[in-house]
Amino acid sequence: MTTSEIRALFAVASRPEVVSLAGGMPNLTALPIDEISKVFADVILHDGQVALQYGSGQGHPILREQITEIMALEGISAHPDDVIVTTGSQQALDLISRIFIDPGDVVLAEAPSYVGALGTFRQYQAKIVHIAMDDDGLIPESLREAISSVRASGRRIKFLYTIPNFHNPAGVTLSLARRREIIEIARQNEILIIEDNPYGLLGFNEEPYRAMRGDDQENVIYLGSFSKTFAPGLRVGWAVAPHAVREKMVMASESTILCPSNFAQMAISRYFATQPWLDQIKNFRELYRERRDAMLEALDQHFPVSATWTKPRGGFYVWATLPEGIDTKAMLPRAITARVAYVPGTAFYADGFGTWSMRLSYCYPTPERIQEGVRRLATVIDEELDLRETFGPINRGINNV
Ligand code: PMP
Repeated sequence: MTTSEIRALFAVASRPEVVSLAGGMPNLTALPIDEISKVFADVILHDGQVALQYGSGQGHPILREQITEIMALEGISAHPDDVIVTTGSQQALDLISRIFIDPGDVVLAEAPSYVGALGTFRQYQAKIVHIAMDDDGLIPESLREAISSVRASGRRIKFLYTIPNFHNPAGVTLSLARRREIIEIARQNEILIIEDNPYGLLGFNEEPYRAMRGDDQENVIYLGSFSKTFAPGLRVGWAVAPHAVREKMVMASESTILCPSNFAQMAISRYFATQPWLDQIKNFRELYRERRDAMLEALDQHFPVSATWTKPRGGFYVWATLPEGIDTKAMLPRAITARVAYVPGTAFYADGFGTWSMRLSYCYPTPERIQEGVRRLATVIDEELDLRETFGPINRGINNV
């Protein structure tokens, strides 16, 4: 195990004078705290003996039913028995890794990919092979090529891990045509798909995208979470998996945590049963859209023309790539001195790539702070570019793509 680059950053980035574009913390200012406190108090008053007791290893039956209703918004039809409630979707990633990965197995993941998932796969000694993305998400042809070359090297592929909607960290969304193509490639090659979808209901413009699980119930394990649509502090997520896998996941979960928190599940369940949760998600979407707009506007205004960045249609993140030769990890201390933080691109690769890229989160600060943060960051980048002009590019080994 190693500490993630993000964790090491949190201490400095959370100083009040620093504009943090680093963390991916949901913005809870939009939550109706008074209403929530009444809902939670009700759970204790009316069902306290159950809520404070151990519960089912698979998760609370009523919440599992509500989860199937939420997933229906993305075209998934599931039975509550297909659902296992986990302690955040992070635990589901751990359970899946524990069940499937033998040391040396290959896990396919987008380039870049979610740092928390990469850390888990690595802990189980998987070899991570990254697959290229563009503005429409994972590129099917690159997936085919990766499968052939891994197989030619004699290694075994356990699964493809993908974040189709409002990608963390890339900020892109997998097109519907590609979803179908990728499902087909995975089927032909007998590779399981792990569809990680914590941001799916946080799109800014359109209806939610159809989940891959909606088109393939045999070969797709779907992961969901209440962390971004409600509150991460409750630590409740879920997985929907083919029957045999789900049984194993329940056993693996019981051996680590016995059962997910009954109180947290019942609190969420009552919130979803009694409150206008879809309106609340709409409030979240508006809050994040305003921040996304502020960040894109500031990037247009301040970043050098030689930089590029993605334009997210939902979620929390912009992925920016600077002119070649600017090492974002080496630049970070200077950025912190200039009172702005981001996550260097290398954190999201298992193979040392990402040197000139960075993840910029717009979820947490106010729009004004976001704009100020981007302005500060652009000044630091300009200084780097000046240095390069004076001293020439610094050879730092592996290049980005
Ligand atoms: N998957 C992705 C892509 C994420 O961004 C996160 C949280 N940042 C998680 C999984 C884990 O979320 P949680 O455990 O809070 O459900």
